[in-house]
Amino acid sequence: MSSYDYDLFVIGGGSGGVRASRMAAQSGARVAIAEEYGFGGTCVIRGCIPKKLFVYASHFGEDFEDAAGFGWTLPERHFDWKTLVANKDAEIARLSDLYTANVKKAGVEIFMDRAEFTDPHTVRLKKSGKTIRAERFLIATGGRPQRDIGVPGQEHCITSNEAFHLEKLPKRVVIVGGGYIAVEFAGIFDGLGCDVTLLYRGDKVLRGFDEDLRDCLTASLARRNIRVVTRRNLKKIDKNDGKFFVFTDHNEMIETDLVMAATGRVPNTDGMGIEKTAVALGERGEVKVDEYSRSSVEHIYAIGDVTDRLALTPVAIHEAMCFWRTVYEGKPTKVDHHLVPTAVFSQPEIGTVGLSEVQALERGFAVDVYKSTFKPLKHTLSGRDMRSQFKLIVDTKTDKVLGCHIFGFDAAEITQVVAVALKMGATKADFDATVALHPTAAEELVTMRTKSYSKEPA
Ligand code: NDP
Repeated sequence: MSSYDYDLFVIGGGSGGVRASRMAAQSGARVAIAEEYGFGGTCVIRGCIPKKLFVYASHFGEDFEDAAGFGWTLPERHFDWKTLVANKDAEIARLSDLYTANVKKAGVEIFMDRAEFTDPHTVRLKKSGKTIRAERFLIATGGRPQRDIGVPGQEHCITSNEAFHLEKLPKRVVIVGGGYIAVEFAGIFDGLGCDVTLLYRGDKVLRGFDEDLRDCLTASLARRNIRVVTRRNLKKIDKNDGKFFVFTDHNEMIETDLVMAATGRVPNTDGMGIEKTAVALGERGEVKVDEYSRSSVEHIYAIGDVTDRLALTPVAIHEAMCFWRTVYEGKPTKVDHHLVPTAVFSQPEIGTVGLSEVQALERGFAVDVYKSTFKPLKHTLSGRDMRSQFKLIVDTKTDKVLGCHIFGFDAAEITQVVAVALKMGATKADFDATVALHPTAAEELVTMRTKSYSKEPA
């Protein structure tokens, strides 16, 4: 008889923790999971899902305007923020309950509590004081928005966490940052009628993405009257009479009703007794793991955002599956972070998989680039000034498609499917041999016959 209460104790009920706990239990392990807030984690509760619901909401204004070109006359429009938040909350509660039910159904014991290590095999639950010993642990505590941006008045900033629960929609918003969350929320607030300023320390938003995508998005932000202020650092934020005053290092002052910091996320390892376990943490507080998601302590694993590898929900789920196969199915499985597709739900959206042009060149590939920029069919009648762009990066030597970058309608949906082709090692000739589906935007992918240019690595 084991001296442990459980074979596996999972800390954190987000996408990764839930998947790992269910799979391990289904393999016959005695599994428990601790979650201090609600099941579903960042993605379901304060991330991907509510964000996308807000993106849908923010699109309607534009859709109503576009309808005119198709002969529609609409009555006066009115948007009610409280209805959106309430409906979103109801859907999130439904999803979170579903996650809880699925965990229970798999036979996992649930502790709605915070778990903190007291030694490498023991956790104490904060509320109940209960002590639990387990043979193995999986840390899946995710991340949280970075709040410490080192400027006076930073406490006046909200983060994406609070953006989902604002009492009312502000008239003016300043968003600090130029990454995923900054550009997604710039689009959301703008679409809902706010006056948006994006304050970014770099020269162009979405650092690390293909340059063409960055340029397309920059142009689109400007067309939408989102004020993008680049090469600026925040100096301080003052609050007076319910208003905020944002000062930059260029001696500018922006008056606003809300300041949102979208300045990255940090792994959640604070205050969970990690120091009692000898689990090694990295500079950002992330749990350092090997390719099997094993930490520096043999029986303690970690997956998802807390490991600060690729902070994306499907990646956390993939890491959970690899953990489960390795530990409970006897099939050592390394995590595979190669060719992970990703989307930015900016407006229009971005879908990307594989190498950017710069990355391909940096890795020594000579590349052929195929690029197509066009006005989407819908906007020939709506009259909206918007361009889509499709771009393929092809290895000159092997003809293999190294990267695909899409800006425009349904970019995310298209990219998911392109990722299958790239994962299978598709060449440009394979794309060319595929018959187009007409009339779609995605047909550009198989009809770009003439290369735009070629480049050699430096
Ligand atoms: P990102 O890392 O994408 O962007 C952070 C931004 O904040 C960057 O522009 C960065 O600038 C800037 N920044 C960082 N620190 C400071 C500072 N001290 N002062 C001023 N600016 C600063 O983080 P996000 O918060 O947008 O998102 C976190 C992660 O969550 C993403 O990387 C992604 O993995 C995931 N996510 C995925 C989504 C999706 O799949 N659609 C949606 C939202 C989040 P610089 O570029 O100069 O470093």
